[in-house]
Amino acid sequence: MIIRRKLVAGNWKMHTTVRDGLLLVEQIKAGLPSPLDCDVIVAPPFTHLMAVLEEAGNSGIQTAAQNCHTEPSGAYTGEVSILMLKELGMRHVITGHSERRQYFNETNMVVRTKVNAILDAGLIPIFCCGESLSLRESEVHFDHVQSQLEESLYHLPESAFRQVIIAYEPIWAIGTGVTASPQQAQEMHAFLRQSIVRHYGHDTGDYIRILYGGSVKADNARMLFSQRDVDGGLVGGASLDASNFLTIIAAACG
Ligand code: PEP
Repeated sequence: MIIRRKLVAGNWKMHTTVRDGLLLVEQIKAGLPSPLDCDVIVAPPFTHLMAVLEEAGNSGIQTAAQNCHTEPSGAYTGEVSILMLKELGMRHVITGHSERRQYFNETNMVVRTKVNAILDAGLIPIFCCGESLSLRESEVHFDHVQSQLEESLYHLPESAFRQVIIAYEPIWAIGTGVTASPQQAQEMHAFLRQSIVRHYGHDTGDYIRILYGGSVKADNARMLFSQRDVDGGLVGGASLDASNFLTIIAAACG
C-alpha cells in the first residue's frame, strides 16, 4: 500500500496584482509548517510567474501555470506555450479546468492535446474533471467523469499517466460556497481510483494523487482530506487569503 503525499494547490485565477501576489507568497512562506510534510503549489496568473517563483525561492512552495497552449510556438496571438513555461522553471500546469471548458470551449479532445504537450515537455499536468449540477441530478455524474478520463487521459501509456495529478472538481461546488460533503468527495474519488485500477492496474491506481476542488475552506479541509482517496485539494477563493490557505495546508500536512 502506497502512502500518497498530500498536495494543496492554490488556483489564483485572474486575481491579484503582482504586488498582491508577492505579499501573499511572503505571508504563506512565513506560516508554512516545518517540516513541510505535504506539497504546496500556487498557480498565479502568467504575468506573476517569474516574480512568484523568485519569491518562493527554496521555501517549498512550488509554482504552477493555470493554462498553456497546445502548440510549442506559432501565430497564436496572446497565447503562452508549454516551452515558455518550462523555460521559466514551471513544473506543473493546470489543464481541463471547468472555467476553461465553459468559457473557452475546451473539449476533452483539446484537453487531451494539452495533456500531451505538457507531458512531452516533461512537466506535470494537474488535470481537472467534474460534473455540473444537472448531470449530478440526472445521476450521470460517474459516466461523465469516466468519459473525461477516457477521452483525455486513457490514451497515455502507463508511465506517462503516472505523472498526472487529477483534481475532481464538481462544477456546482466551484466558487459557490457549496462544498461536496466528505462522503460525496470520497465516493467520486474511490470511483476514479477504481476506474484507474481497471485501466492501468493496482499499482498505478494506488499511486495517482486525486485532489478535491470546490469551495475547500479552512473549516472543511480537514474532513475532506481525511477521506481515504482524497489526496489534498485544488483551492480557488480560499487560496487568496494567506491565513485561510495556511489552515488548509496544515490540514493536509497534519
Ligand atoms: C477552482 O477554481 O479550482 C476552485 C476549486 O475554486 P473554489 O475553491 O473557489 O471553489
